[in-house]
Amino acid sequence: MKLQIDPKYDAFREEVRAWLKEALPADMAARTLQCYHTTIEDRRAWSKILAAKGWAGPAWPKQYGGPGWDEWQVMIFEEECYLAGTPMVDEAGFKLCAPVIWTFGTDEQKQRWLPPLLAGDQYWGQGFSEPNAGSDLASLSTRAVRDGDEYVINGTKIWTTDVHYADLIFCLVKTDPEAKQRGISFVIVDAKAPGVTIRPIIDIGEGHSLNEVFLDNVRIPADWLIGEENKGWGYGKLLLDNERAYSAEIPRNKRTLARLKKLAHETGMIEDEGFALRVAEAEADLSALEFMTLRAMAEKAGGTNFPVGSILKIRGSELLQKLGGLQVEALGPYGAVVYPHGATNDMPPGPAIGHGVLADFMYRRAVTIYGGSNEIQRTIIAKSYLEL
Ligand SMILES: Cc1cc2nc3c(=O)[nH]c(=O)nc-3n(C[C@H](O)[C@H](O)[C@H](O)COP(=O)(O)OP(=O)(O)OC[C@H]3O[C@@H](n4cnc5c(N)ncnc54)[C@H](O)[C@@H]3O)c2cc1C
Repeated sequence: MKLQIDPKYDAFREEVRAWLKEALPADMAARTLQCYHTTIEDRRAWSKILAAKGWAGPAWPKQYGGPGWDEWQVMIFEEECYLAGTPMVDEAGFKLCAPVIWTFGTDEQKQRWLPPLLAGDQYWGQGFSEPNAGSDLASLSTRAVRDGDEYVINGTKIWTTDVHYADLIFCLVKTDPEAKQRGISFVIVDAKAPGVTIRPIIDIGEGHSLNEVFLDNVRIPADWLIGEENKGWGYGKLLLDNERAYSAEIPRNKRTLARLKKLAHETGMIEDEGFALRVAEAEADLSALEFMTLRAMAEKAGGTNFPVGSILKIRGSELLQKLGGLQVEALGPYGAVVYPHGATNDMPPGPAIGHGVLADFMYRRAVTIYGGSNEIQRTIIAKSYLEL
């Protein structure tokens, strides 16, 4: 088993790096590297640049407009993008919903939704969680009732990331209220339809990425149901498995480590031996996490599926929080100042590179919650791998 990326990919990495140098506007990269939530303008502009190059859906199969890369190339591409400072794109659409559409959708649905997503013309939100259904997602209560050629939807979704930018929301809804998992369906909702109300939730770093979504007699065409009625739990599970597969967050961890080192050098904290040792420990943790990810990928390529998603999620999220904490510490007294998300002027003094650090650190308390909380991941490990 190889625990390193095959050198045959070196040329590909160079190609990506060279293109990013040329294609990524410097001001956009600077904004991203400040760690605030990416603006919708930057996301849209970057999506268009990627689409023009044919690299918008790096993990998409060629037949749906992807570049036809293998998963090593996808990983290299994402790493290089993060290190260069590219804005986040529509991850819910590209990484979560698109695979469900091309796996379970009809040809008409694929044609309707995949090309505009790839072109950067449509933005998606994920409407799974509800006020009383998070970890226990199967207890969700948003109802969809068939009425002729339509479904009528009523309910509330919560924590819906970036849905205030969205054109479409993919939702899990109950179509059979008597059944639990077997009564769930996967539907697409027009985010601008009558009856959809979106209310912001402002996070601890004063940023707005989260929302509540109220669905009040919202009508969708019946053929906006994906796959079969009452089979949505299976489709949602595929989506959540995919979400977890990305959850080691190696590219984000690498970028955060790079920023930490830069920051620690700028502020002089790196001269503190104890602090430098903790940075080195975090770097060793990141190498171990990368080896674990490469091992999982190698095993998968060899046909033996090493079921490691939950372990990667725990390790990746905890490391991200550790690196965030070290960054705040590296800022010294400036680490105690909140520079709210989106603030550009009237910044208190302090190294510019550190302006978004505390807001990001506070927001990233959520990494051990979203995508399935770490407590739930530990239960999965105990049940599946340790057979407890
Ligand atoms: C920043 C952020 C972005 C998000 N984005 C989205 C989004 O775009 N779309 C979407 O649908 N959802 C989104 N979510 C919701 C996310 O998936 C849920 O928050 C998560 O699944 C946990 O559910 P909950 O918040 O209802 O907490 P709960 O399920 O109520 O859990 C509360 C606490 O109890 C623990 N707990 C619960 N059950 C158990 C158990 N059986 N054993 C042990 N411990 C348990 C949990 O680990 C947690 O610590 C987002 C959340 C956050 C914080």
